Amino acid sequence: MTDGPAGTLVLLDIDGTLVWRASQEHAESVIAAIYEVHGEIELGRVDAAGLTDRHIVRSLLRGAGFTDAAIDADMEWLLAVAVRGYEERCPADLTAKVLPGIPELLDQLARDPAIQTGLVTGNLEPIAHRKLHAAGLAQPLLPWVGAYGSDAEDRNHLVPVAQERAAALHGHRGRWPSERTVVVGDTPRDIECARIAGAAVIGVTTGAFPREALTAADVVADTAAEVAEALAQLSQA
Ligand SMILES: [Mg+2]
Repeated sequence: MTDGPAGTLVLLDIDGTLVWRASQEHAESVIAAIYEVHGEIELGRVDAAGLTDRHIVRSLLRGAGFTDAAIDADMEWLLAVAVRGYEERCPADLTAKVLPGIPELLDQLARDPAIQTGLVTGNLEPIAHRKLHAAGLAQPLLPWVGAYGSDAEDRNHLVPVAQERAAALHGHRGRWPSERTVVVGDTPRDIECARIAGAAVIGVTTGAFPREALTAADVVADTAAEVAEALAQLSQA
């Protein structure tokens, strides 16, 4: 075994964690892509919180009677149409959607030599980056590290991908150690993907779920300041 990179890897979710109600154009782009590729079919609803974009598309199309083979045949095309649609729809300025204290938290993490920040999000990669640029949050997250809805359909596969990329950024093979990885997210699915990877997890109540839904996290935080406190505790442990 080689020595891994030093410090703590902090993997942030986007929607409900860094920004809130910044997904309307994103959702519209996915739906428009489904219509463009498959026609104006009847779509039901899907509980999308914490799901990857691929997973959302599959759930909607299965609900409309499509087989997995039919879904897979056009999935890459459909996602490319969604990305193009978001590039057209994304507002130039999403700064009003940034959650309180998040710019300060990201700056603080970026300055801390013991922390590597990254993303674990169900957003397709180009959509994630575009959204964070519009939100004014890209700078402290550069160079981008993380895993996206582009990398896997199942969110539970994303943390190891992010750990491998973060280790590589620091010149190490393999994955950033899970005992020094902390996931921060607003849904039970964020907690699950952290647990499956053996990482610690901070649940935040700034998204769609109340504290009671997030009790499986190591810490539940109501504010960005509480996230910073929890990270200090967890990275000492
Ligand atoms: Mg979220």
